[in-house]
Amino acid sequence: MNVTLKVVPVVDIGIKLRAITIGKGRKFEEICRIMIVILKENPNQAQLENLESWLKSQGVQIHRSQGQSQTILGLVGDTSRVDIDLISALDIVEEVKRVQDPYKAANRKFHPQDTVIQVGDVKIGGGNFALIAGPCSIESEEQICFVAKAVKAAGANLLRGGAFKPRTSPYSFQGLREAGLRMLLQAKKETGLPVVTEVMDISQLPFFDEVDVIQLGARNMQNFELLKELGHCGKPILLKRGLSSTYQELLMSAEYIMAGGNEQVILCERGIRTFETYTRNTLDLTAIPVLHRLSHLPVIVDPSHASGKSWLVPPMALSAVATGADGLIVEVHHDPEHAWCDGPQSITPAVFAEMTPKISQMRELMGFAKETK
Ligand code: PEP
Ligand code: MN
Repeated sequence: MNVTLKVVPVVDIGIKLRAITIGKGRKFEEICRIMIVILKENPNQAQLENLESWLKSQGVQIHRSQGQSQTILGLVGDTSRVDIDLISALDIVEEVKRVQDPYKAANRKFHPQDTVIQVGDVKIGGGNFALIAGPCSIESEEQICFVAKAVKAAGANLLRGGAFKPRTSPYSFQGLREAGLRMLLQAKKETGLPVVTEVMDISQLPFFDEVDVIQLGARNMQNFELLKELGHCGKPILLKRGLSSTYQELLMSAEYIMAGGNEQVILCERGIRTFETYTRNTLDLTAIPVLHRLSHLPVIVDPSHASGKSWLVPPMALSAVATGADGLIVEVHHDPEHAWCDGPQSITPAVFAEMTPKISQMRELMGFAKETK
């Protein structure tokens, strides 16, 4: 009885196992291992082209990252068949490594130099600081234009303002939508400030033609269809970290956008959900140096949504600057008590104007580039 029980299932299982390991092949993760090839300085171009065409013939995709002195080839696809020793032995090759991280385009190992994102005349990243300020929501043309002029006078170089608002309650103000975007564009015209505003759905994208930076909010960080669409919108994306997302998940969302061909991604730490309820979220300052280590993308911080309290905004903003943030996105309202959205965390233009010289001082003290432009 024992024998029957053993023999029949073992044969059966054996066939099934072979089907899994041989028939279906290796696990997807094994096949899709990422490899990088670091080349020696000034590689011979003919040899480099030969290497690339040979790699392509092996069925892998190649992404060439050209730094000032270093060239790196990122190989993606079924790299398990690529012989590391063979490539390492080539004259033009310095080193070959397999990379465990699942993100490639966003990975600093693929692209050692900081990415600098250009928005109009403003540069973000690589020592260039973005100071983004404005109301949570656009309430009227007068309101957005007034705040825009005030934050510009105090040193902001980009204007924020929400037209499509993700709200926890369906009964809360949902934003002025297309009309709000028109008001924001009027403020752009009057001040010359490039504008940042949130998209919540693919169907809204046709209204974003004149928007300079598209914000993808925390709640949509893993809206994969929207991420894919933003991958070919040709505009810089301000990607906010999800409420409970890990660094790797944030970087994988950036990877979605970059895989579509849009390399202009700005990462934003905006506080995460922890057991603490005193503040709206918990500002994870650790995210700044960690993301800088893992990725070449600029990292900015939102002290307003991170804390939920206006009096915490200046100290948290300065802490973020001290930790190496490439920028800040701050909610500023002319009358926070009567704001239609997020009044308790909005600072006044006067408080913003007191904070901006301290930001410059902090950058100077820390030895970062002085410009806050
Ligand atoms: C916002 O910036 O107005 C916003 C809704 O932010 P978050 O997605 O970080 O909550
Ligand atoms: Mn808000």
